[in-house]
Amino acid sequence: MPTYRDLKSVAYLEAILNYAGRLLNVEFQPIGKMRFRSACPFHADARNSFRVYVDGGDEVRFHCLGECARGWDIFDLIMLRERCGFIEAQRRLAEFLGVADFIPLTEKPLSAEKDGHAA
Ligand SMILES: [Zn+2]
Repeated sequence: MPTYRDLKSVAYLEAILNYAGRLLNVEFQPIGKMRFRSACPFHADARNSFRVYVDGGDEVRFHCLGECARGWDIFDLIMLRERCGFIEAQRRLAEFLGVADFIPLTEKPLSAEKDGHAA
């Protein structure tokens, strides 16, 4: 059975980019192998400071190198933009990815915040 970590893994990179691009109203440009950039949706950004990359754990991550100076995973972004909780964010992404047999976690593990500053 897929876990919440599977939903944000590199296996779904393209779908996560599609979802995030629509959610944040940004267009990602490739800048390398599995690396993308766009304007940051969270601050006035003329420098394309927003990054998407895959970390050492095969997880798709988002990071702002500018004013925000912090990171997010796709669930953080869904919760922020859709103003929903963690369980609902997982449900929405699972549905978008077409993952049927998924049971959401009730709480977001703290380790997921490894490169972010706690919100
Ligand atoms: Zn930013």
